[in-house]
Amino acid sequence: MNPISHLLTGWVAANTADLTTRDRVVVTLAGVAPDIDGLGIVAEILTENTTSPLLWYSQYHHVLCHNLGFGLLLVVTTVFISVRRWMTAFLVMVVFHLHLLGDLVGSRGPDNYQWPISYLYPFSDRLKLIWAGQWELNAWPNILITALLLAATVYIFRKNGRSSQIPLA
Ligand SMILES: [Zn+2]
Repeated sequence: MNPISHLLTGWVAANTADLTTRDRVVVTLAGVAPDIDGLGIVAEILTENTTSPLLWYSQYHHVLCHNLGFGLLLVVTTVFISVRRWMTAFLVMVVFHLHLLGDLVGSRGPDNYQWPISYLYPFSDRLKLIWAGQWELNAWPNILITALLLAATVYIFRKNGRSSQIPLA
């Protein structure tokens, strides 16, 4: 799934509990945090026509931060920086796994590459998650999910008047 959908997933999940603004921001950002490992695309594009291209996106996207080790790092960090520590940490773990699930079902590239998820990394690289039914990143199920998340977001804003507290990412 795309980063916007992950961000909306985090925001909606953050509003399922009575959290402080800071905790909701933490949960929302945790929903999209695994995609940090996709930032290597900048270096890859900038160096693609050089003699030493950096393949940081091809090699590290869905590897460095889409794994249990990174999820645990997020949880430990959350415990230290949040107010309602355990509820926030629980929701961070939930949105982290929803991110992986979203990528597993709907992140097929235009070249049909499925971006396997090394779930147990860095403890082990034996388990690589792939789902044969995975749809493309821009397929209709992703558009539908994003539309539903947007509807839920609007509903939450209207219900709680929290539109002034949208975390800018
Ligand atoms: Zn991702």
